[in-house]
Amino acid sequence: MRPTTCLLALCLTAPLTAQTNAERMATDRYSRSHDYDLLHQRIELRDFDWDRPGFQGRVTVTLRALRPAFDSVVLDAGALLAITEVTGPAPRGVPYRFDHVRDTLVVHLPRAVATGDTVRFVIRYRGVIANGRGLTFIEADSLPPARPRQVWSQGEDDNNHDWFPTYDFPNDRATWEMIATVPRGYTAVSNGRLVAERANTDGTRTWHWRQEQPAVTYLASLIVAPLVRIRDRWRTVPVDYYVYAADSARARRLFGVTPDMIEVFSRLTGVPYPWSKYAQTTVADFFGGMENVSASTMVDWIPEARAYVDRPWYQHILIPHELAHQWFGDYVTTANWAHMWLNEGFAEFLPGQYWRTRRGEAAGGDYYLDEYRQYLGIDQRRRMPLAALGSNNIYPKGALVLEMLRKRLGDDRFWSGVRHYLRRHAHGVATTDDLRQAFLEATGENLEGFFAQWVYRAGHPDFQVSAAWDASIGLVTLTVRQRQRDSLPADSTGLRYEVPEVFQAPVTIRVGTATGDVRASVQLDQREQLIHVGGVWSAPTMVVFDEGNTILKTLEFAQPTAWLAAQLAADPDLWNRAWVIEQLGARAADAEARAALARAATGADYFLTRALAATALAEFPGPEAQAALVAALADTAASVRQAALYALGTRGATGAVAAVRGHWEHDVSDEARAAALTALAQLDPAGARVLLPAALEVPSYQDGISNAAAFAAVSLGDTALVPLIARAAERTSGGVYALASFGRNGSVAALDRLGELALSRRAGLRRRALEAFRFAVAPGQARTRLTALLAAAPEEAIRRDLVEALARLR
Ligand SMILES: [Zn+2]
Repeated sequence: MRPTTCLLALCLTAPLTAQTNAERMATDRYSRSHDYDLLHQRIELRDFDWDRPGFQGRVTVTLRALRPAFDSVVLDAGALLAITEVTGPAPRGVPYRFDHVRDTLVVHLPRAVATGDTVRFVIRYRGVIANGRGLTFIEADSLPPARPRQVWSQGEDDNNHDWFPTYDFPNDRATWEMIATVPRGYTAVSNGRLVAERANTDGTRTWHWRQEQPAVTYLASLIVAPLVRIRDRWRTVPVDYYVYAADSARARRLFGVTPDMIEVFSRLTGVPYPWSKYAQTTVADFFGGMENVSASTMVDWIPEARAYVDRPWYQHILIPHELAHQWFGDYVTTANWAHMWLNEGFAEFLPGQYWRTRRGEAAGGDYYLDEYRQYLGIDQRRRMPLAALGSNNIYPKGALVLEMLRKRLGDDRFWSGVRHYLRRHAHGVATTDDLRQAFLEATGENLEGFFAQWVYRAGHPDFQVSAAWDASIGLVTLTVRQRQRDSLPADSTGLRYEVPEVFQAPVTIRVGTATGDVRASVQLDQREQLIHVGGVWSAPTMVVFDEGNTILKTLEFAQPTAWLAAQLAADPDLWNRAWVIEQLGARAADAEARAALARAATGADYFLTRALAATALAEFPGPEAQAALVAALADTAASVRQAALYALGTRGATGAVAAVRGHWEHDVSDEARAAALTALAQLDPAGARVLLPAALEVPSYQDGISNAAAFAAVSLGDTALVPLIARAAERTSGGVYALASFGRNGSVAALDRLGELALSRRAGLRRRALEAFRFAVAPGQARTRLTALLAAAPEEAIRRDLVEALARLR
């Protein structure tokens, strides 16, 4: 340590130990040391018990010593696991001494072994499970969807050691077998190849899976449920969809896109799908999806046929996201959790590449526009870099930074870098700098500066641009200011996230004129800089800053309406169009802006642009805007009709009630019907109120219609519907939030009902209710309620969730 002198004020604001994220990430402080290499685990589980969540377990561990005089093995083993015996290898090995303290199991070997020697022993234990930690046991539920009794595992980040002793950190790979004996009629799904399946004399069934290529142990998984298997195939690789029998008719329609996604990802990455099979299994009360190696787990929201009129989230994001992980996360794994964006960033990036490959540039731009909105929301809550321990923004920012890099390098060079990264670290682990190095080796391009700005530092450039034209010399001059501020404080450990004062990036300016476009490309490298575009001999008709949206940014650029209207008609980039629509949308008194939006809402060549323009028209008074919105109701794209319906409701278009009601009654899209119901509550409260009880019961994808009905009841202040909403909340996602909103508006009955749901034995429902308390009830009120519930909680798992929810309340 070296003492420093400083002015008092500086010392107060910046701790002496302040360290930037880039500095901290340059050291490998986040990887765990280990003195053995885990080679193989044979995991045998039987006698699953739903009443006292648990099972009987036996795990045979094979590992190789990494140090001389290796005499004890330190494994991760959940504190609740009741270890009965550790012995030498079968058939009947001698007992080994062991200590099990909290989450650590130390096995004392009978004699020390040398570096490189192989050690094998058997652990017998009673797997006692705090339900939801490592394994989740779910009771059958008569409510739709009909959920059978089931068990599912969730390892990431480090919960697999709560159900089997292992090395629970991503920087070591092993093979394993999962041998599960399950009740009659049940299936066990796990990783790798199914090597045996046999019926036992007592009616149980044993499933034997073998993960033959080494993988990281957080990717080990097990699902036990009565499932049917729908078989599909990519080339010679089995692709299976495991769902409840009740869902079997809908599964192929949903998952059938998988082989084509495998084909596209295999081609883009240059690595043919790397595992012996791919399974996707649906389970109850799951948070989304998990990329367990060769066996992704997914939530059981299988859309009905009519949901495909809209764009099911499942196919659009979830299926390609978890599939992409089979390369990024499973085939090459982050070396530690500080580089987790290598897993999640690529997994979030690749779905956009699938849609771009199959449906064209606009479909890719559409996907990343959605990611951009998510990114901004997260960045506004807390600004963190991509590569940082516990980063909050690894999904959308990861996708956007990789898309930016792809645009910067071009497809050929980008994918050659990615392929090199995958080959170099195949079946291994990687850090962020390994990715940079792979690009350097494959393309000759040192992306140190790019990574420093976009990966190790936080934020994005916040541009303020202005433009002036000098007719006498044919010159357009742009003044470009970067306004982002490097003002994030250091945390208690002295870690400070930097925001670059200046983001450096190439940028292209496109100036439209009566005689054609003029372009200039320059390198942005100053806090404030001038960009000159020469040869503009007639008045500019538009000025596009950052053609093709190659920089992740926010932009303020005051322009005449005519320029914006021209760009909206001429710019193919969806982000640029969305930005223009936002500018035009703020000019509600401007007839030229209204006309441009009306043209886009009814005539733009991509449905998302039409939908955004329709949304913007909500703010425009007068019959012309309303006429454009009514015209947009005839759009073939459901999302445009949906946007127009919401806009008609927002602007109070009472003249359109009949048209809106027609969409509630007859639209083929659930999302459009939900929008129509919301609009009717605004336009015709008395008419809408009558519809709500039945609407609460309408099944729809992701509960769109039922949720709309619940929130319409909130907006109408119709507390008489609270009991019906509480019933709907047991199977829908939005009901709990509607109850919370009623509660915030003073309904004690709604909070009582929400409290009952928070005490439910169904973990997924209980947690949903607790989340509603956390996010949608006033903090003081939530604390009082949850404290009272804690005193009434009937069992330990419920108490634990309540304690956790209380701790998270601010
Ligand atoms: Zn993921």
